[in-house]
Amino acid sequence: MIPDFFSQGDKNMQGHAAIITGGGRGIGKAIAESLAKKGVNIAVIDVNMDIAQETSAELQKLGIKSVALKADVSNSADVSNIFESAVKEFGKVEILINNAGITKDGLLLRMREEDWDAVININLKGTFLCSKEAVKAMSKQRYGRIVNIASVVAFMGNFGQANYSASKAGIMGLTKTIAKEYASRGITANAVAPGFITTAMTDALPDNVKQEMLKAIPMNRFGTVEDVAAAVAFLASPESGYITGQVIHVNGGMYM
Ligand code: NAP
Repeated sequence: MIPDFFSQGDKNMQGHAAIITGGGRGIGKAIAESLAKKGVNIAVIDVNMDIAQETSAELQKLGIKSVALKADVSNSADVSNIFESAVKEFGKVEILINNAGITKDGLLLRMREEDWDAVININLKGTFLCSKEAVKAMSKQRYGRIVNIASVVAFMGNFGQANYSASKAGIMGLTKTIAKEYASRGITANAVAPGFITTAMTDALPDNVKQEMLKAIPMNRFGTVEDVAAAVAFLASPESGYITGQVIHVNGGMYM
Protein backbone atom coordinates (compact mmCIF):
# COMPACT_ATOMS: atom_id res chain seq x y z
CA MET A 1 0.00 0.00 0.00
CA ILE A 2 1.29 3.50 -0.77
CA PRO A 3 1.44 5.50 2.49
CA ASP A 4 -0.68 8.63 2.58
CA PHE A 5 2.20 10.95 3.59
CA PHE A 6 0.39 14.20 3.04
CA SER A 7 -2.50 13.61 5.38
CA GLN A 8 -0.39 12.29 8.25
CA GLY A 9 0.48 14.57 11.10
CA ASP A 10 -2.75 16.54 11.11
CA LYS A 11 -3.37 15.85 14.79
CA ASN A 12 0.25 16.55 15.74
CA MET A 13 0.17 20.00 14.18
CA GLN A 14 -2.90 21.08 16.14
CA GLY A 15 -2.01 24.22 18.11
CA HIS A 16 1.33 24.80 16.38
CA ALA A 17 2.01 28.36 15.22
CA ALA A 18 3.27 29.35 11.77
CA ILE A 19 4.64 32.56 10.29
CA ILE A 20 3.94 32.74 6.57
CA THR A 21 5.58 35.57 4.63
CA GLY A 22 3.72 36.87 1.60
CA GLY A 23 0.73 35.03 3.08
CA GLY A 24 -1.91 37.48 1.88
CA ARG A 25 -2.42 35.97 -1.54
CA GLY A 26 -1.30 33.38 -4.10
CA ILE A 27 0.80 30.42 -2.95
CA GLY A 28 1.28 31.88 0.55
CA LYS A 29 -2.47 32.12 1.10
CA ALA A 30 -2.98 28.52 -0.05
CA ILE A 31 -0.25 27.36 2.35
CA ALA A 32 -1.96 29.32 5.16
CA GLU A 33 -5.31 27.65 4.39
CA SER A 34 -3.77 24.20 4.20
CA LEU A 35 -2.02 24.57 7.58
CA ALA A 36 -5.07 26.22 9.19
CA LYS A 37 -7.17 23.18 8.19
CA LYS A 38 -4.68 21.08 10.20
CA GLY A 39 -5.27 23.29 13.27
CA VAL A 40 -2.17 25.48 12.94
CA ASN A 41 -2.43 29.10 14.15
CA ILE A 42 -1.18 31.51 11.51
CA ALA A 43 0.58 34.89 11.40
CA VAL A 44 -0.05 36.26 7.90
CA ILE A 45 2.85 38.53 6.96
CA ASP A 46 2.57 40.83 3.96
CA VAL A 47 3.65 44.25 2.72
CA ASN A 48 0.03 44.77 1.78
CA MET A 49 -1.88 45.00 5.08
CA ASP A 50 -5.33 44.96 3.43
CA ILE A 51 -4.88 41.53 1.86
CA ALA A 52 -3.09 40.22 4.98
CA GLN A 53 -6.10 41.22 7.11
CA GLU A 54 -8.58 39.77 4.62
CA THR A 55 -6.74 36.42 4.56
CA SER A 56 -6.35 36.39 8.32
CA ALA A 57 -10.11 36.97 8.78
CA GLU A 58 -10.85 34.05 6.40
CA LEU A 59 -8.46 31.80 8.35
CA GLN A 60 -10.16 32.62 11.66
CA LYS A 61 -13.39 31.25 10.20
CA LEU A 62 -11.61 27.85 10.02
CA GLY A 63 -11.49 27.90 13.85
CA ILE A 64 -7.84 28.80 14.41
CA LYS A 65 -6.13 31.89 15.81
CA SER A 66 -4.71 34.19 13.17
CA VAL A 67 -3.09 37.59 13.12
CA ALA A 68 -2.18 39.87 10.20
CA LEU A 69 1.16 41.69 10.42
CA LYS A 70 2.50 44.25 8.00
CA ALA A 71 6.18 43.81 7.18
CA ASP A 72 8.71 44.10 4.41
CA VAL A 73 10.81 40.94 4.78
CA SER A 74 13.91 42.73 3.51
CA ASN A 75 13.79 45.13 6.48
CA SER A 76 15.44 43.68 9.60
CA ALA A 77 13.47 45.88 12.04
CA ASP A 78 10.16 44.74 10.46
CA VAL A 79 11.27 41.11 10.66
CA SER A 80 12.24 41.27 14.30
CA ASN A 81 8.86 42.96 15.06
CA ILE A 82 6.88 40.17 13.39
CA PHE A 83 8.61 37.48 15.41
CA GLU A 84 8.08 39.43 18.63
CA SER A 85 4.37 39.94 17.80
CA ALA A 86 3.84 36.32 16.77
CA VAL A 87 5.45 34.97 19.95
CA LYS A 88 3.34 37.42 22.01
CA GLU A 89 0.19 36.23 20.20
CA PHE A 90 0.80 32.46 20.13
CA GLY A 91 3.42 31.90 22.86
CA LYS A 92 5.79 30.17 20.40
CA VAL A 93 6.50 29.63 16.71
CA GLU A 94 7.11 26.12 15.36
CA ILE A 95 6.87 26.83 11.63
CA LEU A 96 8.33 29.47 9.30
CA ILE A 97 7.36 29.52 5.63
CA ASN A 98 9.60 31.87 3.64
CA ASN A 99 7.27 32.50 0.72
CA ALA A 100 7.38 36.26 0.01
CA GLY A 101 8.95 36.82 -3.37
CA ILE A 102 8.97 39.14 -6.36
CA THR A 103 10.17 39.16 -9.97
CA LYS A 104 11.67 42.04 -11.95
CA ASP A 105 12.53 40.40 -15.24
CA GLY A 106 14.84 41.59 -18.00
CA LEU A 107 17.63 40.13 -20.11
CA LEU A 108 21.03 40.42 -18.42
CA LEU A 109 22.35 43.34 -20.46
CA ARG A 110 19.16 45.31 -19.88
CA MET A 111 18.72 44.40 -16.22
CA ARG A 112 18.95 47.50 -14.06
CA GLU A 113 21.05 47.32 -10.91
CA GLU A 114 18.05 48.36 -8.80
CA ASP A 115 16.02 45.44 -10.21
CA TRP A 116 18.82 43.04 -9.30
CA ASP A 117 19.01 44.49 -5.77
CA ALA A 118 15.24 44.52 -5.19
CA VAL A 119 14.83 40.84 -6.10
CA ILE A 120 17.89 39.67 -4.15
CA ASN A 121 16.86 41.77 -1.13
CA ILE A 122 13.29 40.52 -0.90
CA ASN A 123 13.73 36.91 -2.05
CA LEU A 124 17.11 36.01 -0.58
CA LYS A 125 17.91 38.54 2.16
CA GLY A 126 14.29 38.31 3.35
CA THR A 127 14.65 34.53 3.72
CA PHE A 128 17.94 35.03 5.59
CA LEU A 129 16.48 37.63 8.01
CA CYS A 130 13.35 35.61 8.78
CA SER A 131 15.29 32.35 9.20
CA LYS A 132 17.73 34.03 11.59
CA GLU A 133 14.88 35.23 13.83
CA ALA A 134 13.17 31.84 13.57
CA VAL A 135 16.15 29.78 14.69
CA LYS A 136 16.53 32.03 17.76
CA ALA A 137 13.02 31.11 18.88
CA MET A 138 13.11 27.51 17.64
CA SER A 139 16.51 26.65 19.19
CA LYS A 140 15.14 27.32 22.68
CA GLN A 141 12.19 24.97 22.13
CA ARG A 142 14.45 22.45 20.29
CA TYR A 143 11.88 22.06 17.53
CA GLY A 144 11.23 23.89 14.30
CA ARG A 145 10.26 23.55 10.67
CA ILE A 146 11.55 26.05 8.11
CA VAL A 147 10.22 25.69 4.57
CA ASN A 148 11.63 27.98 1.89
CA ILE A 149 9.87 28.55 -1.41
CA ALA A 150 12.48 28.28 -4.15
CA SER A 151 11.68 27.76 -7.84
CA VAL A 152 12.44 25.42 -10.71
CA VAL A 153 14.53 28.25 -12.21
CA ALA A 154 17.05 27.84 -9.36
CA PHE A 155 17.95 24.56 -11.07
CA MET A 156 17.35 25.40 -14.74
CA GLY A 157 17.96 29.15 -15.06
CA ASN A 158 15.53 31.13 -17.21
CA PHE A 159 15.67 33.77 -19.90
CA GLY A 160 15.16 37.21 -18.38
CA GLN A 161 15.45 36.00 -14.78
CA ALA A 162 19.13 36.38 -13.82
CA ASN A 163 18.18 38.14 -10.58
CA TYR A 164 15.27 35.82 -9.72
CA SER A 165 17.14 32.56 -10.59
CA ALA A 166 20.17 33.70 -8.55
CA SER A 167 17.95 34.58 -5.58
CA LYS A 168 16.25 31.17 -5.68
CA ALA A 169 19.56 29.28 -6.15
CA GLY A 170 20.85 31.29 -3.17
CA ILE A 171 17.85 30.10 -1.17
CA MET A 172 18.90 26.50 -1.88
CA GLY A 173 22.40 27.09 -0.47
CA LEU A 174 20.94 28.92 2.52
CA THR A 175 18.45 26.09 3.16
CA LYS A 176 21.18 23.43 3.24
CA THR A 177 23.35 25.54 5.56
CA ILE A 178 20.51 26.14 8.03
CA ALA A 179 19.78 22.40 7.86
CA LYS A 180 23.37 21.54 8.82
CA GLU A 181 23.75 24.22 11.51
CA TYR A 182 20.48 23.50 13.33
CA ALA A 183 19.79 19.77 12.86
CA SER A 184 21.06 19.09 16.38
CA ARG A 185 18.44 21.50 17.78
CA GLY A 186 15.51 19.64 16.20
CA ILE A 187 15.09 22.25 13.47
CA THR A 188 14.70 21.13 9.87
CA ALA A 189 15.10 23.39 6.83
CA ASN A 190 13.81 22.30 3.46
CA ALA A 191 12.68 23.87 0.22
CA VAL A 192 9.81 23.46 -2.18
CA ALA A 193 10.59 24.37 -5.78
CA PRO A 194 7.43 25.13 -7.74
CA GLY A 195 7.38 25.04 -11.52
CA PHE A 196 4.79 27.15 -13.35
CA ILE A 197 1.94 27.80 -10.90
CA THR A 198 -1.16 29.79 -11.81
CA THR A 199 -1.09 32.97 -9.63
CA ALA A 200 -1.01 36.75 -10.12
CA MET A 201 2.78 36.44 -10.61
CA THR A 202 2.34 34.24 -13.70
CA ASP A 203 -1.00 35.67 -14.93
CA ALA A 204 0.95 38.70 -16.11
CA LEU A 205 2.81 36.64 -18.77
CA PRO A 206 1.61 36.89 -22.40
CA ASP A 207 -0.47 33.95 -23.73
CA ASN A 208 2.16 32.89 -26.29
CA VAL A 209 4.79 32.57 -23.52
CA LYS A 210 2.34 30.48 -21.45
CA GLN A 211 1.67 28.16 -24.41
CA GLU A 212 5.42 27.66 -24.93
CA MET A 213 5.88 26.83 -21.25
CA LEU A 214 3.04 24.32 -21.34
CA LYS A 215 4.91 22.34 -24.02
CA ALA A 216 7.74 21.77 -21.51
CA ILE A 217 5.43 20.27 -18.85
CA PRO A 218 4.87 16.51 -19.23
CA MET A 219 1.65 16.70 -17.18
CA ASN A 220 0.36 19.20 -19.73
CA ARG A 221 -1.09 21.59 -17.17
CA PHE A 222 0.09 24.44 -15.01
CA GLY A 223 0.30 23.77 -11.28
CA THR A 224 -2.19 25.03 -8.74
CA VAL A 225 -1.44 26.79 -5.46
CA GLU A 226 -2.88 23.73 -3.72
CA ASP A 227 -0.27 21.49 -5.43
CA VAL A 228 2.46 23.57 -3.77
CA ALA A 229 0.66 23.87 -0.41
CA ALA A 230 0.40 20.06 -0.06
CA ALA A 231 4.18 19.61 -0.30
CA VAL A 232 4.80 22.52 2.08
CA ALA A 233 2.34 21.14 4.65
CA PHE A 234 4.18 17.81 4.67
CA LEU A 235 7.57 19.48 5.26
CA ALA A 236 6.01 21.65 8.00
CA SER A 237 4.66 18.61 9.85
CA PRO A 238 6.31 16.66 12.69
CA GLU A 239 6.35 13.56 10.44
CA SER A 240 9.00 15.07 8.15
CA GLY A 241 11.44 15.21 11.09
CA TYR A 242 14.18 13.04 9.52
CA ILE A 243 14.19 15.07 6.28
CA THR A 244 16.40 18.15 6.17
CA GLY A 245 18.33 20.13 3.55
CA GLN A 246 16.11 18.71 0.82
CA VAL A 247 13.95 20.08 -1.95
CA ILE A 248 10.60 18.83 -3.20
CA HIS A 249 10.02 19.76 -6.85
CA VAL A 250 6.39 20.56 -7.65
CA ASN A 251 6.49 21.09 -11.40
CA GLY A 252 4.47 18.47 -13.28
CA GLY A 253 7.68 16.84 -14.52
CA MET A 254 9.09 20.02 -16.10
CA TYR A 255 12.43 19.39 -14.35
CA MET A 256 13.56 16.05 -12.92
P1 NAP B 1 2.28 36.58 -5.55
O1 NAP B 1 0.91 36.15 -5.97
O2 NAP B 1 2.90 37.78 -6.17
O3 NAP B 1 2.30 36.72 -3.95
C1 NAP B 1 3.47 37.13 -3.27
C2 NAP B 1 3.06 37.79 -1.98
O4 NAP B 1 4.26 38.25 -1.32
C3 NAP B 1 2.18 39.01 -2.22
O5 NAP B 1 1.15 39.04 -1.27
C4 NAP B 1 3.15 40.16 -2.03
O6 NAP B 1 2.55 41.38 -1.61
C5 NAP B 1 4.05 39.60 -0.94
N1 NAP B 1 5.30 40.32 -0.88
C6 NAP B 1 6.01 40.89 -1.91
N2 NAP B 1 7.08 41.52 -1.44
C7 NAP B 1 7.07 41.39 -0.10
C8 NAP B 1 7.91 41.85 0.94
N3 NAP B 1 9.00 42.60 0.70
N4 NAP B 1 7.60 41.53 2.23
C9 NAP B 1 6.51 40.81 2.51
N5 NAP B 1 5.66 40.35 1.57
C10 NAP B 1 5.94 40.63 0.28
O7 NAP B 1 3.32 35.39 -5.80
P2 NAP B 1 3.13 33.80 -5.82
O8 NAP B 1 3.04 33.39 -7.23
O9 NAP B 1 2.09 33.37 -4.84
O10 NAP B 1 4.59 33.38 -5.30
C11 NAP B 1 4.85 33.04 -3.97
C12 NAP B 1 6.26 32.46 -3.91
O11 NAP B 1 6.36 31.34 -4.79
C13 NAP B 1 7.35 33.44 -4.35
O12 NAP B 1 8.49 33.27 -3.55
C14 NAP B 1 7.63 33.03 -5.77
O13 NAP B 1 8.92 33.37 -6.18
C15 NAP B 1 7.46 31.53 -5.66
N6 NAP B 1 7.20 30.86 -6.94
C16 NAP B 1 6.08 31.13 -7.66
C17 NAP B 1 5.87 30.46 -8.86
C18 NAP B 1 4.66 30.68 -9.71
O14 NAP B 1 4.60 30.10 -10.80
N7 NAP B 1 3.69 31.48 -9.27
C19 NAP B 1 6.82 29.54 -9.31
C20 NAP B 1 7.94 29.29 -8.56
C21 NAP B 1 8.12 29.96 -7.36
P3 NAP B 1 1.87 42.38 -2.73
O15 NAP B 1 0.49 41.89 -2.86
O16 NAP B 1 1.95 43.73 -2.13
O17 NAP B 1 2.69 42.25 -3.97
